Amino acid sequence: MRLVLVGPPGAGKGTQAQRLAERLNIPHISTGDLFRRNLRDETPLGVEARRFIDAGDLVPDTVTVDMVSDRLDQPDTESGFILDGFPRTVSQAEALAGLLHDNDAELDAVVELDLPDDTVVKRLLGRGRSDDTEEVIRRRQQVYRDDTAPLLAFYRSRLVSVNAVGAVEEITNRLFDALQTAVTSTVGLRGDDRRSPAR
Ligand code: ADP
Repeated sequence: MRLVLVGPPGAGKGTQAQRLAERLNIPHISTGDLFRRNLRDETPLGVEARRFIDAGDLVPDTVTVDMVSDRLDQPDTESGFILDGFPRTVSQAEALAGLLHDNDAELDAVVELDLPDDTVVKRLLGRGRSDDTEEVIRRRQQVYRDDTAPLLAFYRSRLVSVNAVGAVEEITNRLFDALQTAVTSTVGLRGDDRRSPAR
């Protein structure tokens, strides 16, 4: 199963992507985590990306798309993957379609975590990441509205929207149920993994 998870900063994408990846037994690929690893290790990619990340801006596509392309070339993605934080622009979505097309593959679903964006600043401020100052968070929210929200229209034919207000476990269940409904015919979700429906 090839999935993309989309949602505003603080929506809980990382948490939910991790949990879904475990349930579906596919790798969780977070561009934010990949960037942070490169920052920590001070790789050339990290050095290049730092000023964008610190400002809450998007890292240029040339850097980001190459990084994702390398990650999708790893053999563990053959069974599928869940992308978290990529694509974040329509041009990245087009690049992704090209990468998948080269492997005769396509996305099964794009899942949107839907929540009001003023509810998330507090959550982010509590997280303590260096790019989680109020000013940088506001900037990331602006970037989301301007550059990432148009993705929802781009992906409308395979978009699954899930209400992301609630407890972590409850949201995971909603996601899992929504995905199951959306893609039952193409993938074999294991019935015994289903928790009680949260809807
Ligand atoms: P959040 O979703 O909380 O804003 P992420 O961990 O997904 O945080 O991303 C942190 C930062 O990493 C972003 O603000 C951006 O600078 C950079 N980044 C992550 N993914 C991408 C991407 N697909 N394209 C460009 N920059 C990205």
